[in-house]
Amino acid sequence: MLTCAKCHKKIDEKDALKRKNEQGAQEIICQECFKAATGVDFATFAYRREVAKQTFFAVIFCLAATIYAFVEKGPLYGAAGLLLTALIWYFSAKIR
Ligand SMILES: [Zn+2]
Repeated sequence: MLTCAKCHKKIDEKDALKRKNEQGAQEIICQECFKAATGVDFATFAYRREVAKQTFFAVIFCLAATIYAFVEKGPLYGAAGLLLTALIWYFSAKIR
């Protein structure tokens, strides 16, 4: 069992969240205090983090495909790849 640094409630290790406080030191807090501190509940936060991660990989993949297309097929395909990457970036930014 861990103790929340803010409300001193006992929390399960799996429910404990680590975050940096205003002084830059790491503290362990419960999900309620996380929500109070950040304004988003942890489920939303985790969802956004997951979406951001997936977007990151999608963009990396597209950039790699773009470079490949540019080298193998020429600048026109490279430009098309860049456009596709920009579109994915744009729409994923809209979801958030
Ligand atoms: Zn707490």
